[in-house]
Amino acid sequence: MSALAGLLEAIVAEARPQAARGTVARYIPALARVPADRFGIAVVELDGSVHASGDAHERFSIQSIAKLFSVTQALRAIGEGIFLRVGREPSGTAFNSLVQLEVERGIPRNPFLNAGALVVADVLLGAREAAFDELLAFIRERAGSGTIDVDREVLDSERATGFRNAALANFLRSFGNLTHGIDAVLAFYFAQCSIAMNCVELARSALFLANRGVCPRTGERVLTPSQCKRVNALMLTCGTYDAAGDFAYEVGLPAKSGVGGGIVAVIPERLAIAVWSPPLDPKGNSLAGSFALERFTTHTGWSIF
Ligand code: GLN
Repeated sequence: MSALAGLLEAIVAEARPQAARGTVARYIPALARVPADRFGIAVVELDGSVHASGDAHERFSIQSIAKLFSVTQALRAIGEGIFLRVGREPSGTAFNSLVQLEVERGIPRNPFLNAGALVVADVLLGAREAAFDELLAFIRERAGSGTIDVDREVLDSERATGFRNAALANFLRSFGNLTHGIDAVLAFYFAQCSIAMNCVELARSALFLANRGVCPRTGERVLTPSQCKRVNALMLTCGTYDAAGDFAYEVGLPAKSGVGGGIVAVIPERLAIAVWSPPLDPKGNSLAGSFALERFTTHTGWSIF
């Protein structure tokens, strides 16, 4: 067993019990049914070596982690123009808050808020013929896995209960910051949230962010070095919602989380790491997942600081 694999085993043993202090997301009923005791962790290095432990090969709903891929696609499609319609400041409010959007007249603080992701979806719908299919193809290509797909049960659940997202979309539209119909934007958004991936796939798919924008598996340039640096900056400052400051303090890595209990993080020039444990802390980040990442950076001494 490699030293890294041994470390991951030790982290799983230490982190798994922490999950008991968290709560699985219940506002999307299909997520509430996922067994709370699942715990997976995977590291993929730039040379492609994989180290994994626990339930690292079981797929789960990536939820807001999809926002990382959609903002990447939007940057590829129209570049910095997206920042005329969405900001890049941490919000200090919950990812699905309505209040700030009203005060700031329909310009979401950042693309990792639900409102920001709805604007990004609108950008992609305007820039691409088959926008969602392209997003899915992009994720499959980055992960090296053609079977990654939308989980239909989660999608139905999102659609049936996404009243708050519908409210955000209506708000955005009323301020003129959506150009497509609300139903089309929500359909795109719900579908991206419902994509299912496992920890190995997630870590592999984020490797271009650890490699100055080039996918190390295919050699394809996904982002310019400058765009890559900027997406990492957004992850650090906004990727874990209104806990981004705490997360930077504890873990010290650019990361993106989702309410399915996944977190993917990047160590530039070295590796990407993904964790999954469904119970969340009050801010909506995986409780044991955040704990595990803190252990990882503390044990290895690797962080961006
Ligand atoms: N589908 C979820 C929602 O729209 C995604 C939120 C998240 O992962 N933070 O509320």
